[in-house]
Amino acid sequence: MKLIFEHSSKGQNKYRIPSYEGINKSIIPDKFLRNDEPLPDVAEPEVVRHYNNLSRMNFGVDNGMYPLGSCTMKYNPKINEKLAKRSGFADLHPLSDESCSQGALRILYDLSDYLCRITGFSQFTLAPAAGSHGELTGVMIIKKFFESTGDKRDTILIPDSAHGTNPATVAMCGFKVKEVPSDSEGNVDIEVLKSMLNENVAAMMLTSPNTLGLYDRNLAAVSRMLHENGSLFYGDGANLNATMGRTRFKDMGFDMMHINLHKTFSTPHGGGGPGSGPLGVTAKLAKFLPIPCIEKIEDRYILNFESEDSIGRIHSFYGNFAICLRAYIYIRMLGADGIREAAETAVLNANYLMARLKKIYNLPIDRTCMHEFVLNDKGIPNGITTNEIAKRILDYGFHAPTVYFPLLISGAMMIEPTETESLESLDRFVEVLEKIRKECDENPEAVLSAPGNTPVRRVDTVLAAKTPVLTWDQ
Ligand SMILES: *Cc1c(COP(=O)(O)O)cnc(C)c1O
Repeated sequence: MKLIFEHSSKGQNKYRIPSYEGINKSIIPDKFLRNDEPLPDVAEPEVVRHYNNLSRMNFGVDNGMYPLGSCTMKYNPKINEKLAKRSGFADLHPLSDESCSQGALRILYDLSDYLCRITGFSQFTLAPAAGSHGELTGVMIIKKFFESTGDKRDTILIPDSAHGTNPATVAMCGFKVKEVPSDSEGNVDIEVLKSMLNENVAAMMLTSPNTLGLYDRNLAAVSRMLHENGSLFYGDGANLNATMGRTRFKDMGFDMMHINLHKTFSTPHGGGGPGSGPLGVTAKLAKFLPIPCIEKIEDRYILNFESEDSIGRIHSFYGNFAICLRAYIYIRMLGADGIREAAETAVLNANYLMARLKKIYNLPIDRTCMHEFVLNDKGIPNGITTNEIAKRILDYGFHAPTVYFPLLISGAMMIEPTETESLESLDRFVEVLEKIRKECDENPEAVLSAPGNTPVRRVDTVLAAKTPVLTWDQ
């Protein structure tokens, strides 16, 4: 595949930039008046073909099953896109007056309300642009809360199974990170936690269900111990897809949580595009939420920028409105019953896959799972590891699972089918994994040299990470 610049040859592009004669140079500075920019010279049909061909080299949930654990790559209904493109939404300027944006404000207000009902919290901010940004907002609130009480607490506890953004966020906010080990069942080790609790512990961040796809059986005890210690309990809600409509984070004892709309509520993600990570809090923490808050006074929606205790702004305007809008549409379409059914189906699909796959791959923690589970490469012969198996999966037209995460399982393969996969596609995935397991014994070369039929073959990931090419010289 060539770069667009390599398609360039002089005179192909018949479009010509008008001459600059007569342009008022006091308005447009000289440095912008040049027509020797090194742009590719390519005819329109070639441009269209180039980008179409590039898009076909990509793999997404619209091409095939994408069981990337921890990411909830569910199908995003196209109606979300269709409605979000309506000009009433798409052309609305973020600086337009409240009186002209009542519809949009109402959607944000109602979405916060739905998230409160789903989780039990009192108030949400929709401003954070990602799950990790929600974490940042939450930990800033934790900091502000203890400033307000005069406590000098400088430590936040995080289980060893946590997503990397948890310790990163905590460190960014100036807290010390202390890691809590898991027991052999994948729960927080309660005895060790007890020994770690003291007057320095501001909070604990816990993912529920955790990143092994397991519901922590010690959750109630953990919550009680933290609160007895005067600490706050932060819920990482990235895995809400497993429990929405069935249990509420507030009822489980959390003081705050973030939700990844781009995971649970079917808004597009991947490629670093816009996401949304709303943060919900209990009533006692609501005054610290970022500004502006959307409020309803009689039947008018207003933006309230007045808040003495707020941590301030954390995003321009009101967050990623178009993403919130898609999540709103999804929730409205499913309704309360549909939300619950989505979670139940996600858990059922994961347990079905786990029950079938544990017969052929090692399952380090053998418990009923939630919406995802973790296999590993123990016992695979001929020097084949998780990395090769993941590459071989690509050859058969599926996206690979998440690999080597969570870190506490060596050679982890983390599989999350989501509720949007049919029984047929789950069975096809099992067939492929059976075939690959057989190849490991009978034709190891095919696995060791994979991928063999993707647009890009095995890349040197170490080289790519250590010497990235960040500029392109003609
Ligand atoms: C995805 C994820 C995050 C981070 O969310 P982003 O939206 O990618 O910033 C945090 N914790 C867990 C458990 C996750 O799966």
